Amino acid sequence: MNKKNKATKADTALAHDPAHAEGAIAPPVYQSSLFVFDDFDAMVARYRGDSEQVVYSRVDNPTVTLLQDKIAALECGEAARAFASGMGAISNTILSVVDPGERIVCVRHVYPDTYRFLRGFCSRIGIETVFVDGCDTDAVIAALPGARLLYLESPNSWMMQEQDIRALASAAKAEGVTVMADNSWATPLFQNPLELGVDLVVHSASKYLSGHSDVVAGMVVGPSALIDKMDALVRPYLGACLSPHNAALILRGLRTLPVRMQRHAETGLELARRLSEHASTTAVHHPGLDPYSKSTLSGYGSLFSVELAPEVDVRDFCNALSLFRLGVSWGGYESLVVPAMVGRNQAGLHNSAVDFDVPERMVRLYAGLEDVDDLWNDLESAFTSGSA
Ligand SMILES: *Cc1c(COP(=O)(O)O)cnc(C)c1O
Repeated sequence: MNKKNKATKADTALAHDPAHAEGAIAPPVYQSSLFVFDDFDAMVARYRGDSEQVVYSRVDNPTVTLLQDKIAALECGEAARAFASGMGAISNTILSVVDPGERIVCVRHVYPDTYRFLRGFCSRIGIETVFVDGCDTDAVIAALPGARLLYLESPNSWMMQEQDIRALASAAKAEGVTVMADNSWATPLFQNPLELGVDLVVHSASKYLSGHSDVVAGMVVGPSALIDKMDALVRPYLGACLSPHNAALILRGLRTLPVRMQRHAETGLELARRLSEHASTTAVHHPGLDPYSKSTLSGYGSLFSVELAPEVDVRDFCNALSLFRLGVSWGGYESLVVPAMVGRNQAGLHNSAVDFDVPERMVRLYAGLEDVDDLWNDLESAFTSGSA
């Protein structure tokens, strides 16, 4: 997990923890809101900054800290912080970097609630966002001068387009622009944006990191200086802290992240390949189908999107699926489908979409851990019953 020790691979590191109290092999869940001091002097010393004793779980909790340390190591970063949701991580990170009056450059087709946060709350407090086609590296670079933050999501939501992270991060650095990237799709196993020059990486841990559709959580990883600034300015006060119980569920999910991701990657790519050759589709958007020459992915998430041929009724197709359940989110064990009109409405755009104009005849598929041929049969039979 630690890049300085190449001998320890992520799977090995995720199978081992530092020693726990009483020799417990699984991490203790510190389900405690506060932590008491031995005496007066210990308490005063803590508030003078002379000790690091844990005080209160809105700010610090040992189970959450263990999770933070694991994710920091996986992403090759100095420090990490956990949040009550991916949006908690994203909003805290943006607000710790950008001040009112400053400008953000954001790639198009980011996660719809990120889009709404930028277009809604951020613009309300005087933070302007310019949305640029992330595939057009020159256009993004041209928008950088004078900006405070460059926001990347590679690949992005719905369209699954990759950005040239390395080139964009280097151009941003030259302009003094901080770079932040949402890496939820690839996980730290298949892409490490910090190694490509990005300053801050965020994850929705509700997805692959927890992996069992039972937790909503978020993470941010970056250099200690930026994380310290977040702690000083926003994190304790916005209060989107992760509960120790949810941290323990993510720590448990992480044990199997490498085997789950290997399976997701294989199943997702295989289904995308078969769908791209199927007469009932007009386009399949999956980064593995059309390898972008500068791809920095070493593996693939299993979330991708498909445009359906005119003879397929989108509603009938979705209703005919049985293993792919109609549901938002992704990253768990179960396969899911979302029609594009839901994504458009989520982004608050309806028909006048400019920065989130996903095609109407598109569905987003998420391949879970089911058998690949069972999933394929489900798709094929839905095409048959969904076709006029
Ligand atoms: C789900 C998701 C988020 C938001 O995470 P929550 O945990 O739902 O708050 C952010 N980015 C991407 C790419 C997502 O899929």
